[in-house]
Order: sequence, then structure tokens, then C-alpha cells
Amino acid sequence: MARRISILGSTGSIGRQSLEVIAALGLSVGALTAHRNTALLEEQARAFSPELVVLTDPGAAKDLAVRLGDTPVRVASGPEGLLEAATLESVDTVLTAVVGSAGLEPTLAAIAAGKDIALANKETLVCAGALVTRAARERGVKLLPVDSEHSAIFQCLQGCAHRGEVRRLILTASGGPFYGKTRAELAGVTRKEALRHPNWSMGAKITIDSATMMNKGFEVMEAMWLYDLPLEQIDVVIHRESVIHSLVEFQDGAVLAQLGSPDMRLPIQYALTWPERKPGPAARLDLLRCPDLTFSPPDGVNFPCLELAREAARQGGVAPAALNGANETAVALFLEDKIGFLDIPRLCQAALAAAPKVEAPTLEDILAADAQGRALARKMV
Ligand code: NDP
Ligand code: MG
Repeated sequence: MARRISILGSTGSIGRQSLEVIAALGLSVGALTAHRNTALLEEQARAFSPELVVLTDPGAAKDLAVRLGDTPVRVASGPEGLLEAATLESVDTVLTAVVGSAGLEPTLAAIAAGKDIALANKETLVCAGALVTRAARERGVKLLPVDSEHSAIFQCLQGCAHRGEVRRLILTASGGPFYGKTRAELAGVTRKEALRHPNWSMGAKITIDSATMMNKGFEVMEAMWLYDLPLEQIDVVIHRESVIHSLVEFQDGAVLAQLGSPDMRLPIQYALTWPERKPGPAARLDLLRCPDLTFSPPDGVNFPCLELAREAARQGGVAPAALNGANETAVALFLEDKIGFLDIPRLCQAALAAAPKVEAPTLEDILAADAQGRALARKMV
């Protein structure tokens, strides 16, 4: 169980809910980081008294240092600040809740420093799953899933001693706000409509990824790396109600599932208390009030991103990093109203097609592919 935690991305959706869990469990905080949300980071610093706070934006960090001048909290900035927060001596667990591949290098640094990782930042495993899981194995640190599907699988796998007993993992997907729409209908959807997720309140980037189904594709890769299983053993089923968070089918035909209200505080808490369970702030599930549970196959024709991610996983090497880089750029452009919804899969597909073949890529190869994916997406607009 975690005792003292640093949160990378504490002002985001996962970061804020993590602090609620930390407060409820009475755990202590070593460092908190954000990009430029000075006001909220100041508030969090005063409430949780960390040793260190970091704003990656240098101007915002200067402002924060003035604001926190009456406290002993140290303020740092830039990517170096983020690395310092990830490796702080006094901390045993780093919760990675920054968005995008910006989380990769700090996560690797935290692992090298021997910290257990409570992993929300799935882009890290999408881009560099082989590097990250190998580093964690070699350093003997744990990668504890925060993502609700992966936490569900982790919970179902407690007590499973041999991975060979698993026949397949079944990730559930809500289908997002546009479930059932055709390509023609999707062509005209707006940013506002895409940000209206039916079940979960999340940061803007992952909400758009949920609308395109890229999020589920990334989660397939995340599951491959976390549970050391091949692509063919990971299925996706649409489950609109988000009550079953994912399932494991074993060789004998038994299927275990984890159910709960759609509340991220439960998977966040389990990543911090594992292998123990504690009372916590997450909403309770009332079976008598929950909706009928439904299941259907994903629609690969109108939502091609799931298959694009599977194709990137099949290609391996730097293909997933190129895809992720293009997707981050495309989503940012969509959020700025500069491209349409269907341009997101179009740009991603082009970046995947252009990705170089690299066997056993190094961190430099991965960062280069990420940059190439971003540049290609920008050039195509
Ligand atoms: P948010 O956008 O809500 O928060 C992102 C956080 O990262 C903020 O603290 C932000 O700071 C900081 N940040 C943004 N850009 C940078 C950067 N370039 N460098 C350093 N810090 C940065 O995201 P979410 O909380 O929704 O998601 C975080 C991660 O967790 C993502 O990888 C997502 O896929 C994953 N996840 C999220 C879930 C959810 O329910 N939200 C569920 C499962 C996984 P600032 O506020 O200053 O901009
Ligand atoms: Mg998820």
C-alpha cells in the first residue's frame, strides 16, 4: 500500500479525484505538478503541504512561487521540475495523471528511482510499452492500473497465479456520445457534442478519444502491456451503461467481472491501497437502481480508430507512438475547431501508414516517431 505519493497532473480530472482519495485515506503528498493552472495548484499546495510543486510553464511557476512565498513549499518549473517531482526521495508511489506522451519521460524516471507507479497516463504504455514494462520488471517496481477497465481486470486477476489460465480479457466500452451514428452523421458533429460523454466526466482529450473510440484502442494496447497478453486475447464489447468495468474469461469458461458505479475514485483508490481494500469516497452501486445491462459489438465501419490502434499494435515498433502523436495533434486541432471529427481518424491513419519500421525501438526512436506523427498531422491540415 502507498504511503507518500507524488501526483503528476494534480489539477486534472484524475489528479483532483486522486487528492480526494488521498485525503480520505489520510495518505501524505510529496509533490504536485500541473502545466499552468496556478490558482488550483496553489490551493492544493495549501491543503496538502507537499515538499515540492511544479508548473511546467515557467512564467506560471514564477507567479506561483510569489503566491506561495509565505509557505515552506518549494516551487520548480519546466520538464526538469517534472522529473524532480517524479523522483522525490521521500515518496514511494508516483501517480501519473498528466495527459499525453508528456508523461513518458517522467514515468521512466520514476521507475528508475524505484517508485511504484499508479498509472493513469495510458499514452505512456501506448508509446513505449516494451521499454516501460521492462524497466519496471528490472527495477522491481509495480505498475498499478488506474484506468477503470484495467483496474477491473487487475481485480479479477487477484488470485490467478498463471497467466496461462486466462483465455481472454474483455474490455467494456461505453461507445461514447456518438454510439449508433453513421459516418454521414459524424461528419457534422461539434466539439461541444463530442465533449458530452454519457457516463464519465473526464479531461477534454480523453473525452474526445472516447468519442472516436481511439481510447478503447489505446486501452487494448495498455492491457497487452500490463497483463502480458497478445492482441488476439483482448476483446472489446460495447456496454452502454458502464456498470461492468471489464471482464476476464478463464480457460475453464468462468468469467469474472468487476462492477461499480462509474466513479474513478474507486480504481484510483485500489491502485493506492492494493493489495488491501479500505472504505473510501467512491459512489456505491445499487443493483436495484442500476439500468438494464446491455452488450453489443463495436462498430468498426463508422468508428475506425479502434482498428487503427489494433493495427498499430500488430505492427509494433514505433507505429503506436506515431499514431499517438498524430492523435494528440488531431484532437487538439479538433478542440480548437480547426478540423472536423472525421479528420481525426484520417490524420491518424496517414501517420500510421507513414510510420517507419523500427525493431526494438529506443526511447529516442519513440520520441522521434511521436514528433513525426505530430508534424505529419499538422502538415495535412
Ligand atoms: P486533464 O486534462 O483533466 O488533466 C491533465 C493534467 O496534466 C493537468 O494537471 C494538466 O495541468 C497537466 N498537463 C497538461 N499538459 C501537460 C504537459 N504538457 N506537461 C505536464 N503536465 C501537463 O486529463 P485527465 O485527468 O482526464 O487525464 C489524465 C490521464 O489519465 C490521461 O492520460 C488519460 O488518458 C488518463 N485517464 C483519465 C481518465 C479520466 O477519467 N479522466 C480515465 C482513465 C485514464 P493544467 O491543469 O495546468 O493544464
Ligand atoms: Mg478507461
